[in-house]
Amino acid sequence: MANPSVGAQEARAVFDVLKNGWISMGKVVLSLEKKIQKYLKVKNAILFNNGTSSLHASLLVYDIKSGDEVIIPTLNYISAANAVIYCGAKPIFCESDPKTFNVTPEILESKITHKTKAIITVDLKGMPVDYDAIKKKIKKYNIPLISDSAESFGAEYKKKKVGSQFNLHSFSFFANKNITMGEGGLITCNSDILAKKIRIIRNQGQNRRYNHTVIGNNFRPTDYAAAIGIEQLKKVDKIIFSKNQISKSYDKAFSKFPNVCTPFVPNYVSMHSWYMYSLKFKNSFISNKFKNFLLKKKIDYRVSFPPIHLQPIYKKKFGFKKNSFPISEKIANTFVDIPCWFGMTNTQINYIIKQVSIFLGNNK
Ligand SMILES: *Cc1c(COP(=O)(O)O)cnc(C)c1O
Repeated sequence: MANPSVGAQEARAVFDVLKNGWISMGKVVLSLEKKIQKYLKVKNAILFNNGTSSLHASLLVYDIKSGDEVIIPTLNYISAANAVIYCGAKPIFCESDPKTFNVTPEILESKITHKTKAIITVDLKGMPVDYDAIKKKIKKYNIPLISDSAESFGAEYKKKKVGSQFNLHSFSFFANKNITMGEGGLITCNSDILAKKIRIIRNQGQNRRYNHTVIGNNFRPTDYAAAIGIEQLKKVDKIIFSKNQISKSYDKAFSKFPNVCTPFVPNYVSMHSWYMYSLKFKNSFISNKFKNFLLKKKIDYRVSFPPIHLQPIYKKKFGFKKNSFPISEKIANTFVDIPCWFGMTNTQINYIIKQVSIFLGNNK
């Protein structure tokens, strides 16, 4: 589904770090942060041990606590909601747009109350949300905007790399992301004040050694993971370009079938990261049939994250039921991610195109 592209260069880089003897957070982490700042054209990049920690720290820096509400789309990975809970605050779930699978300014505004202390949107499948439209709509409320950009590293919004549009952007470098450190996370922002606080939170709340001014955590990445990140960053444009080519071939082959929707990409997305390529079916009967077909043809697939409000622990904690968010539930049940990763051979791509086209042709 998503083979990581790691090899000899990464191995050598890790070996060099191990040989040097300084393996916890040090110079290599700093060096990767500088390279990311340059690549994303953002003033600050703070590397984390994973993308869940970076979301948690994004809320800690705004002092989110018990009694506060944080708005998040239910159609997201569990991390953002859990991060709200770690802070003792309450996640307020919202729907997503059935066309883009992302939230809209109107959906977010409808959930704002006097308790709303932050909004976390998500660039689902690696496609940026409409940052400018959301910023414009939310401006008068003065609520911090955090983007869970875990899937959109290297994507572009209106010809600018994702990472400086909202107050904070949180990224992940988990193994199946477009580039990886095995485990890794990142916060980017243009505010130096926030960046300074985030660095303190990442390192046990210390502003200097053994002087703890806030309740932080150990969110530190290692230098040997950062060494992998440096090698991966060199490849990111190539990886994204290749994924764009694969999705173009899929679009071309599948968009002629009326019984499936290929991904809709709005104009403000000048570069999609194509973390996942999703086909959307009319109902779950046909999407289930499609999944069985793929299994038989030995084509790997992924279903989407189930909506967070339907996770057993969230149902138990907040009393959500089926149909609490019908649009998100329907989206989750009807789309299927098919392989789209750097390093796929033409034979593999053509096989998928051929088999999927046979299925679509036979199931009108
Ligand atoms: C991967 C991912 C995360 C979590 O990142 P980890 O590094 O696995 O903790 C959060 N949100 C989204 C949307 C993701 O895809």
